[in-house]
Formats: sequence, C-alpha cells, structure tokens
Amino acid sequence: MLNEDYLQRIKSLHAALGIDDSHLGSCGMPLCHVPVALVEAGEDIYGRPQLLTRETFESWKKMCQQAALDGVLLQLVSGFRDLDYQAEIIRRKLDRGQALNEILKINAAPGFSEHHTGRAIDLTSPEGLALQEKFEESCAFKWLVNNAVSFGFNMSYPRNNQAGIAYEPWHWCYDGHRRDLSSE
Ligand SMILES: [Zn+2]
Repeated sequence: MLNEDYLQRIKSLHAALGIDDSHLGSCGMPLCHVPVALVEAGEDIYGRPQLLTRETFESWKKMCQQAALDGVLLQLVSGFRDLDYQAEIIRRKLDRGQALNEILKINAAPGFSEHHTGRAIDLTSPEGLALQEKFEESCAFKWLVNNAVSFGFNMSYPRNNQAGIAYEPWHWCYDGHRRDLSSE
C-alpha cells in the first residue's frame, strides 16, 4: 500500500511544477517508493556522494569488479534520487524554457523515477558517452548486455518499452530482490 503522506508529497510537488493530477494515473509508469534504508555508495563521476540500497550496492560492486577483470571500466553517473531532487531537475528545465510535456518524455515526474527506489543506476564508461543514446555503442554497454543480468541488473527502458519512456541504454535497475520474492 502506498503511504498517504508520500502520495500527498508527490501531489504537491506535481502541483508546484504544473503537472496535472491526471498524470498520476495516466503516465503508464508505476509509482516508485523511497526505501527505508540506504547506504553510501561512493561518488559518481562528478564527485557527488551517492546512495543505494545495500543489496544494490553490493551487487554493483561485484559487477564492477567482474567488468574490470574483463577490461571494462564501469562508472556511476547517478544512483538514488529523492522526490525533491527529481522535482529540481524538472524545475531547472522549466526555468530554461523547456515545455513540460517535452521534459516529461525524458524525466519522470516526481514519484515515478526508478531512482527513488535506490535500485536504479545510470552508468557510463571512460568512452565518455554519459546519458547519451550512443552509449549503446560502447564496450561497457556490450558488456552490460551480456553480463548485467547475472548480477541482478536489467535495462529498464529498452527501445520501444511499454512505459513509452525514451530509450535509456545507460539506466539499469537491480531487481535481484524481486526474483527472490517470486521464488518464495
Ligand atoms: Zn536513470
């Protein structure tokens, strides 16, 4: 069940950004919960401290180590984001004059970003294609396609995904815990 306070916070952030109430039911994405506990997960490529759930962080570390053994350097661009941070991303784009409906094709509304769960990571590599579709041409991406699933990470937004989200070859979500649940 969704916490009523959480839903209210989402609604008030949406109202402040001018996102219509109907977006909650019509955007085609599930609401994402902020986890109870997060751990420090080192810094991203910009030197900003990052947070992830413990099991996501543990699996991310193992995945990095294996990639390095295979000669591939994986780098973190972004991990956990709270509701306010997601609202801030959209606010900055609005302030630069971008249209809300165009922004929402790229950035999930507060409450709908998988980054709220502490299980989603945006990745890049020294090939320098952070948050670009061309990341799919990198060695790091090819390695991820072949190996990430064995560490519990899946690409959330492949081409032509059901949620209608733009293709994001850099965005991977740890769902190992979901698999654990389904096997019970
Ligand atoms: Zn992402």
